[in-house]
Order: sequence, then C-alpha cells, then structure tokens
Amino acid sequence: MDYVSVKGMHDIYGNEAAGMAYVASILKATAELYAYREIVPPVLEYTEVFSRGTGESSDIVRKEMYTFNDKGDRSVTLRPEFTAGVVRAVVSNKMYATEEMPLKLYYCGPAFRYERPQLGRYRQFNQFGVEEIGQDSARVDAECIIMAMQGLYMLGFKKLSLKINTIGDEETRAKYREALKTYFAGHIDEMCDDCHERLKLNPMRILDCKVERDQKIAEGAPKIKDYLSEASEKRFYETLSILNDLGVEYELDDSLVRGLDYYSEVVFEVHALAKDGTDYGALCGGGHYGGLVKELGGPDLVGVGFAMGLERVYGLMEKDGLLANLDTGIDLYVMPVGENVLNDVFTLTEEVRQLGYSADTPLAALKMGTMFKKAERRGAKFALILGEDELNKGVAQLKNLKTKEQSEISLKDLGEELDKAFDKAYPNEDDDGCGTEEPGKATEAPDPEDPEAGLMKEGCACSDADFGKEEEKGKK
Ligand code: ATP
Ligand code: MG
Repeated sequence: MDYVSVKGMHDIYGNEAAGMAYVASILKATAELYAYREIVPPVLEYTEVFSRGTGESSDIVRKEMYTFNDKGDRSVTLRPEFTAGVVRAVVSNKMYATEEMPLKLYYCGPAFRYERPQLGRYRQFNQFGVEEIGQDSARVDAECIIMAMQGLYMLGFKKLSLKINTIGDEETRAKYREALKTYFAGHIDEMCDDCHERLKLNPMRILDCKVERDQKIAEGAPKIKDYLSEASEKRFYETLSILNDLGVEYELDDSLVRGLDYYSEVVFEVHALAKDGTDYGALCGGGHYGGLVKELGGPDLVGVGFAMGLERVYGLMEKDGLLANLDTGIDLYVMPVGENVLNDVFTLTEEVRQLGYSADTPLAALKMGTMFKKAERRGAKFALILGEDELNKGVAQLKNLKTKEQSEISLKDLGEELDKAFDKAYPNEDDDGCGTEEPGKATEAPDPEDPEAGLMKEGCACSDADFGKEEEKGKK
C-alpha cells in the first residue's frame, strides 16, 4: 500500500513552510501592534461547543465537521473554526473577570473542514484571527477590521477589496428570515438539495450557496437593508464613518451574510485576486457576534472577530511574487577540507551558531564542488572554508557566495570578523530588523495620491515578529 496524506490535507515544507511561518509572524506582530494577546485553544473541543443544541444551521457545523467519539464515548470535534472555541475558553476560564477588558485575543493554527478540496480549499488549513470581546461599540468593530487590513498591507498586499454589510440585530434577522422564506418558497423547486434544507433551517444560509443558478435566484431576494432596525442602521453607519475617517475603502455588499449563525450587525470579508486573475476565494471573513458568549454559558457580552486563511494569503503572495525576496537561506556553510579537520570544523560550526549565525556543515569530507553546490542549495550567504593549513595558522577563508569575494579571517576574532563581513554585505539588515529586500516592505515610498492606498500605511512589522532570522541577528 502507498501511504498518502488524508485527502484534502497537505504537507507543508521547504519554502512553503518558511513562507507560511513568515506570513504568520507578520500577522502576529501586527496583532501585537494593536495590543491583542495570543490565545492557544485546543484543537479538539466537545462537539456541543460548535453545534450548541440545534443552534447552528451553517454548512460548516452541519456538514463539514470532523466529529467522532473518543475512547470515553464523548463526541468531540476537530475545530472547524476558532471563534466558538475561543469563546468557550473565555467562559471556562472566566477571563472576563480576570483579564483586562475588552479581551483582545489573537490565534493562529489549524482548522479542519470536510469539504471538497480545490484551489485554496483544504480539509486541514491554517487560520489566523482575532476576537475582541466585552465592549459593544462600532469603534471596536472598526478596530478589528482595520487590524485585518493592516495585517495584509504589512505583508505587501496593495490591492484589497473590503466587502462589508450589516445583518442587523435579532429582531431584524427574524423579520428578514420571514421575507426570505416567502421569496425562496416561490423558487425552491429550481434550487439545489442543500437549499431545500436551508430554507427549512435558516433561509439566510441560502445566500451563501455557491451553486451558480441558486446565486442568480438569490440576487432577486429581498435585501436586509430594507429590514434593519434603526439601532442597527445607526451602528452600521457609525462603523462606516470611522472607516471613512481613516481612509479605508470598502464596498457595501448586501448579499454578504457570512457562513456562521452567531454573527449579528456588521459582517465583512476581504478579497484579492492574483495579478493573473487567480481567485483563491475570500482571504478573510469576520463580523460582530451578539449572543455567542451567553450561549456558551458566559455573561451577556458581545464580540467581534475575523479569521484569515493562511494558505490563501500565502497562495496569493506566492503568485504575485510578494515572497520572492523572503530569505530562507542560512548565513554560513562551513566547509571542511579533508577528513582530518572534520572534528575541528564541527566544533567551529557550533561556535558560529553560538555567535548567532545560522550555519551548516556537511559532517563528512566532501569534494569542494559538492560543498559549494550544497551551500548554494541551502541559500548560504557565505562559505567558511578550513583545511589543515588554515587550522594550524588559526585562520579560515571567508567567501561571499554572491560576490565571490574571498578573504582570510582570524579565528581568534571570529565574531568580529563575521559581523564586519555581514554588515558590509547586508548593511540594511540590522536597523529596524527589516532590510529593503524583505518582502512586505514597499520598495518605493507609498504614494499618497494613490486612491487604492487609502490612508493605511504600508510598513514592516518584522522588527516585532518572531521572524527567526531577525531574532538570531539580535544575539550578535
Ligand atoms: P469560503 O466562502 O471560501 O468557503 P468561509 O466563509 O467558509 O470561506 P470562514 O469560515 O470565514 O470561511 O473562514 C475564514 C477564512 O478561512 C476564509 O476567508 C478562508 O480564507 C479560510 N478558509 C475557509 N475554509 C477554508 C478551506 N477549506 N481551506 C483553506 N482556507 C479556508
Ligand atoms: Mg466555506
């Protein structure tokens, strides 16, 4: 039998793993910039956390969950999304009583959905997101949206489309559901089997249907804006006005209702297409939730959050060359010349690492040509070459593998010599931790006249990111 990964689940390694880690580090750093703190909830939750009685009519909960009984015969589910688990954690730990309010939490990790695998759609995928819980204000909603946009700008995206809508309060949605029921009842015979079910459970879910014919029918459906209570309408315009004040562009999308039932009031998505038109789907989706904390046994607190699909963000960045300059190489490849120096070179390589430079060495005597090939494949910036002669003299040859310049350095001053050589070759890397070559950093100054730029500033979060390379350099 051939062993393969579970359908829809992919292995992430090499440049993709480095790219995904970079994406996560920039998003985490952006969240920290906005004063969110990390939460790491378990991957597995009791199924009720997601299903909450018959509380969820979403496809995600009804059809896409990996649910099974554990050995104690309790029904458990691999999280299909984070919000319910994070809110469960907030309630279980009474964070609203012990932590600073509002709670500002961010998370990053895998989620699982049993859906048809296709471009940008996996059965195990990674989400980054935030939840802001405990303060009911349009400003909180706006902060969350801005953080999502800013995270993507930090990654170097230039053209994003923020789609926004309101689905109002409970009263609004009750009236709206009735109107949808009446409308879709007249068309249901032409619609997919799932929509038959959706009509019974929650007709708003029909608006999420991805079947083209059904989408056409949904276009003619009543619009929620005609059912909004005054309070919901006011709240929505407050959020929009804050976005206007900050120059954040958005597109009102009255068909946007989001795929989970706990949402209320403002909902939003961020979309982007690759330059060649490739569509990986929404990069990010989120919204406000009114009843979820209470439904999970906590006090009556509202929340707002978004979740971003890291594979989709990575896919777009890769396609548009935003990761082309991501440095996934090592600093030094240390080359032993001859069998006799293997042990000394092994020790020296360890010293180099203690100095804060990433380094590798072949651990066996190899031909020079082979070692240079290995160094190149590992993206080494310099080669440090030592044979018996060098060791006897206490020196090594340091070769810049890009410029091919080579010089002899003294092993006694190894740290200083390396610092000097690296500072000369990569002068920008130590300032704010982000050289101009880093991805995410605009190579030209942002154009204030550019209507697409809004007032959001492109920038670089690398200095705060746990972006391995920069941390390492910090040790020097
Ligand atoms: P879609 O409309 O594409 O199915 P969704 O509304 O189901 O997305 P959310 O529940 O909002 O997705 O999840 C937040 C983000 O997670 C999405 O915007 C997307 O980037 C990502 N995402 C969702 N499902 C998948 C998946 N199966 N594989 C990869 N990424 C996903
Ligand atoms: Mg989906």
